[in-house]
Amino acid sequence: MSTPSQCLQRDTQRLCQALQLDVAESRLEVRVLLGHALGVGRAWLIAHEHDEIPDIALAAYGKMLDRRMAGEPVAYILGEKEFFGRRFIVTPDVLIPRPETELLVELALGKLASMRTARILDLGTGSGCIAITLALARPDCEIIATDQSAAALAIARENATQLGAKVIFHQGNWYHALPQDAGKFDLILSNPPYIARDDAHLDALTHEPHTALAAGADGLDDIRKIVQGAKTHLNPGGWLLSEHGWDQAEACRELLEQAGFTKVQTETDLAGHGRISFGCQSG
Ligand code: GLN
Repeated sequence: MSTPSQCLQRDTQRLCQALQLDVAESRLEVRVLLGHALGVGRAWLIAHEHDEIPDIALAAYGKMLDRRMAGEPVAYILGEKEFFGRRFIVTPDVLIPRPETELLVELALGKLASMRTARILDLGTGSGCIAITLALARPDCEIIATDQSAAALAIARENATQLGAKVIFHQGNWYHALPQDAGKFDLILSNPPYIARDDAHLDALTHEPHTALAAGADGLDDIRKIVQGAKTHLNPGGWLLSEHGWDQAEACRELLEQAGFTKVQTETDLAGHGRISFGCQSG
């Protein structure tokens, strides 16, 4: 027999050791997996910590814990991840939405605040988290999202349907995904792949789609293409915003300035790293 309390004690320890997580993080993950297996929330688990867990739930929990012990991210095990207060479906075909990307969305909403309506382009939409969040916050705007991966777009479409967001999706490589008559945009944004090909961190990311992560020798290949292409796809006064690696802010600002963008700036994430750079298309 096992109770939530016993699982928490035993498995927090195991998870800590297997993945070198700290105790608080492991405890939280065990709670989340247990709650998911039992179909209950945190409060229930605490109130029933000495109840026996039914066999079926215990077996489901055991399977999920094994996957986690093997290094699979919790979001892929649960099949979902929260972004901007909403649940997004995720599979290994898409990157798991991250808190840093919420900052990108917040910045975009700030730029949009002064626009009565706008045409928005989200390049490399993955799970669709950016485009869908913007569509729900600004239903007056027209939002187009692209991705090279058909599998990723299928997930993004499913998320848009489930969350009731109106987004137009196109498959293809960056701006090549757009139809001939796509017209110009007032805001282009992206969380593109930005990890250098030889970065040791890539090897640690064994479950995530590498095409969504790696971008050439210096990690800037895709950002270069996005910045270059933005010139011909933005209206005068329009903004380009891109997420990037913690050490790429200066390089990104340089790319934006070289391409003729004005008001070029970087915004810092909660960890204090320059994380989003943006610039304005001069009139
Ligand atoms: N736009 C998606 C996200 O921010 C996917 C990003 C990516 O695949 N590089 O999560």
